[in-house]
Amino acid sequence: MKKDMPEKGAILQRDKETYAIAPHMPGGVTTPAYLRKIADVAEKYNAQALKLTSSQRIAIVGLPEDKLDQIWAELGEKPGAAIGLCVRSIKMCPGNTFCKRGQQDSLKVGLHLDEKYHAYELPWKFKMGVSGCIIDCGEVCIKDVGLVGGPKGWNVMVGGHGGPQSRLSQKLVENVTEEQALQIIDRIVEWFKAQDKKGRLGKLIEDVGFDNFKAAILPEA
Ligand code: SF4
Repeated sequence: MKKDMPEKGAILQRDKETYAIAPHMPGGVTTPAYLRKIADVAEKYNAQALKLTSSQRIAIVGLPEDKLDQIWAELGEKPGAAIGLCVRSIKMCPGNTFCKRGQQDSLKVGLHLDEKYHAYELPWKFKMGVSGCIIDCGEVCIKDVGLVGGPKGWNVMVGGHGGPQSRLSQKLVENVTEEQALQIIDRIVEWFKAQDKKGRLGKLIEDVGFDNFKAAILPEA
């Protein structure tokens, strides 16, 4: 019986025969040339659909298993980490690069996090988000770790996720600089890795207690 193939970034479809792949597209920012390449691959291999995903990628749906290696080669990419136990995605809004409401540079910080953490292996799946203001178009409210920009700096949010027992993220600290925010995220990721437990960060925070978690991440606070 066919299964998902994380090593090929391939997700088995409902027909139990074909696969979807979702090439890595940091922040959903791309170029006309890369869009053409995706369109060319979809056409050449008779994809059933091109579907925008909530992780700011374009899934190419309905591809034959025996052509997956060839398809990744034609895209000029290694398989993206759309599935598997790792940092799956870093969702980011346009922030003050493009959005008139933006108070912080969510694209710059998000792309930095993407470069550092996309596909980073962890004991369980892990998602990040970065929003340039409290309207939170990057959906930090349902990410394991995220940053929300404000007039005085970044708020670091933790423990959110979707799913059947969805959970909203909580504010760990507010009004920190970009450098401080990135250091705190590093500590959270390493703390999560060191626990070596199954489950989302929010569940682990509940198990140890939010105050204890905060003391572990921010001993100076
Ligand atoms: S979160 Fe704020 S800055 Fe980002 S796109 Fe939405 S309104 Fe603009």
